Amino acid sequence: MNILILGGGGREHALAWAIRQNPKCDRLIVARGNAGIAGVAECADLDILSRADVLEFAQGNAIDFVIIGPEAPLAAGVSDALRDAGFLVFGPSQAAAQLEASKAFTKEICDACGAPTAAWARFDTAGPARDYVTAQGAPIVIKADGLAAGKGVTVAETLDQALAAIDAIFDGEFGDTSVVIEEFMAGEEASFFILSDGTDCLPIGTAQDHKRVGDGDTGPNTGGMGAYSPAPVLTQAIQDQVMDRIVRPTIATMADRGMPFQGILYAGLMIQDGQARLVEYNVRFGDPECQVLMMRLGAQALDLLLACAEGRLAQAAVTWADDHALTVVMAAEGYPGAYEKGSRINNLDRLPETSFQMTFHAGTATRDGAIIATGGRVLACTGRGATLAEAHARAYALVDGIDWPQGFCRRDIGWRAL
Ligand code: ATP
Repeated sequence: MNILILGGGGREHALAWAIRQNPKCDRLIVARGNAGIAGVAECADLDILSRADVLEFAQGNAIDFVIIGPEAPLAAGVSDALRDAGFLVFGPSQAAAQLEASKAFTKEICDACGAPTAAWARFDTAGPARDYVTAQGAPIVIKADGLAAGKGVTVAETLDQALAAIDAIFDGEFGDTSVVIEEFMAGEEASFFILSDGTDCLPIGTAQDHKRVGDGDTGPNTGGMGAYSPAPVLTQAIQDQVMDRIVRPTIATMADRGMPFQGILYAGLMIQDGQARLVEYNVRFGDPECQVLMMRLGAQALDLLLACAEGRLAQAAVTWADDHALTVVMAAEGYPGAYEKGSRINNLDRLPETSFQMTFHAGTATRDGAIIATGGRVLACTGRGATLAEAHARAYALVDGIDWPQGFCRRDIGWRAL
């Protein structure tokens, strides 16, 4: 079959790498792709936020299956346009994508189905929001309601920080949005990935990531500096609890409301004293969590995504190896602040590319025969092994084989589990 993947980061490189190994895959196109993706798929230049452009491209290239990587095309309704035209699509409708695009929407769904999450309130103006926060006290969490690429959330340790965050939101820092205020939840965070075809659900793995830029979880937040799978804190008992109390009730409520969720549900969870509560949902794979999940799933990823899109998850199962994967993100110096583009990365062609070691590209391009950095997060060096320590050693062996003076990474990915 001919497959089109929308996106062009490390997540999409990992998806393409896994799918390419499946004999069902004939032609594989990634829009827009990057220098690493070009090694496993054709890259196409396409405005993936334009429903019309994506539709025309899929029709013109005899595409059988479209996989949508990032949240923006989902929120823009690209999956609806494709499905209406008869394409098989992996990824939720615009309506179901509200589970990520609106925090208030998700909170209402949780309330409707009794899923445990932080107590919350929503405000459209600053005055009542300030009064509420003053009455509640700190610590407290202030969120812009809509998509803000992880920048719209303030975990306020003091009342002053909370009030300043409310003012910034109503000053328009995140566009025209309301504010969601949440109870602060203490505990350990982990991510749980579940496929749903709208009715049935299939867990496909757990992970933990490192959001802060510096070793020891210090410095500003980033899109993610590394991840590992599985997450030890998400024991089988806690996974079962999350499926029973949070995930299945959410999927049932979405179906009842006429917006069945089809795609990957990425549940961000807070675990404390054996109890899990929902922090947030995302409606696409995480980046770099996708890299560790794909490393563990390999070629069967395509069969699972197809079963999901075709509504056959009740008959699907994951074949697990007893393995671990760990990925280390290499970023351009200065990230997550200002960074230079265009620096040359050497030795990538000397690195092994096997089912135990893969360097996924996020922000790269080819210029005059050399690979150059074009983004903040640039590479995801990924190892797999029988133990987390083995996966860790294989990932850092890739890092150490790369000659890129303008790049950096954290040296302590996985510390909590190791
Ligand atoms: P991202 O894209 O980084 O996931 P987001 O904008 O979707 O961010 P959330 O995931 O809701 O926002 O919040 C970001 C982070 O803030 C969480 O990963 C968590 O560490 C922290 N956080 C959010 N809500 C709470 C809460 N109620 N209690 C404690 N910490 C929270």
